[in-house]
Amino acid sequence: MNLIALPAFTDNYIWMLHDGTRALVVDPGEAGPVEAALDALHLTLAAILVTHHHGDHVGGVDALRARLRGPVYGPRRERIPPPYEALDDGACIEVLGLDFEVIDVPGHTAGHIAYFHAGPGSSAPILFCGDTLFSGGCGRLFEGTPEQMHASLSRLAALPGDTRVCCAHEYTLANLRFARAVEPGNDALDRYSAWCEATRARAEPTLPSSIARERAINPFLRCAEPEVQRSAAAHGAASDAGSAVFAALRQWKNEFR
Ligand SMILES: [Zn+2]
Repeated sequence: MNLIALPAFTDNYIWMLHDGTRALVVDPGEAGPVEAALDALHLTLAAILVTHHHGDHVGGVDALRARLRGPVYGPRRERIPPPYEALDDGACIEVLGLDFEVIDVPGHTAGHIAYFHAGPGSSAPILFCGDTLFSGGCGRLFEGTPEQMHASLSRLAALPGDTRVCCAHEYTLANLRFARAVEPGNDALDRYSAWCEATRARAEPTLPSSIARERAINPFLRCAEPEVQRSAAAHGAASDAGSAVFAALRQWKNEFR
């Protein structure tokens, strides 16, 4: 299995997983990059997986239907271009011979879902998390509450450490500037920042990340760490409760420049 990040728009990635013959894509906000990859690699499009309803994630779905030889999957509780197979939390789908479990992750949008492949059949677990978890950060709360997003991120943080985390945007460097303001004493964060700076200087993706890495460097997954709690308290956190720390961090990040 080959996992590829197809750049789209200015900072989106459309994730493609293929076995040399058939491919799935996740959140095709535009069709062009997908069509070009299918042509270049001589692949059949076997399925489209959608995580949430935003236009930069679904805008290419209808244009790809002519080449699609399988279903479009998406969250039941959101408005996805029909027809599609509506999925609920805990659902299991099989694509390219791999099982994917559906995880409800409300917060960025009300019905946002993620797709998790635990293995076997590929070299490591895979998570397609849309705009819920980014490397070093998380999605903005357009439709959900801090409590919901904190719970959603906690579910993702509990996945196996070697899970490859396929985020839908290249926001890593901006996220890490904020993360270092939250945790100036985190050495792993400093080392990862240096690696990401060098990687982006070569115009390469910083993704996929891993759950183990995000647990080590992402402040939004580290709300129980004393340094994160102290920084959050200095920015209005009402208590050291996880959701209170998370809410203060998210608000601080919204205003961070
Ligand atoms: Zn979004």
